[in-house]
Amino acid sequence: MSDKTKSYFCPSCNSPLVNLPALAGGEASCQKCTWKGPNTELLGYEFKTGFDNAEEILHAFARDIRLLMAQNESGLKMGQLIIKWGLVQNVDVPTLSRYVGNVARAIAVSVLETRKDIEKEKQSVS
Ligand SMILES: [Zn+2]
Repeated sequence: MSDKTKSYFCPSCNSPLVNLPALAGGEASCQKCTWKGPNTELLGYEFKTGFDNAEEILHAFARDIRLLMAQNESGLKMGQLIIKWGLVQNVDVPTLSRYVGNVARAIAVSVLETRKDIEKEKQSVS
């Protein structure tokens, strides 16, 4: 039994809302931004998970990162940095949580992009 899910993200805006071409080598497009291109440019990942779609995977991955940030207090320190840099004026917990949540999501996206880059490098070497 295979529980692998192959998921695709837009290489421009990282949205999982991409239209996949029926044929290999066809043109894919993003529903969220104006990106269009060959499906080989999509950020595609195979996950061994019980998730149904890419957005769920990204969400769960970001939630794990956020949990880690809460446990080792890096989320708190990130909030302090955001205040230090003047992006938030007061200790406004809901606003800071929103920033930290998006930081976690950006980390998740960055990890997926790094993996894509590494996979690309492997292909061009062989
Ligand atoms: Zn897009």
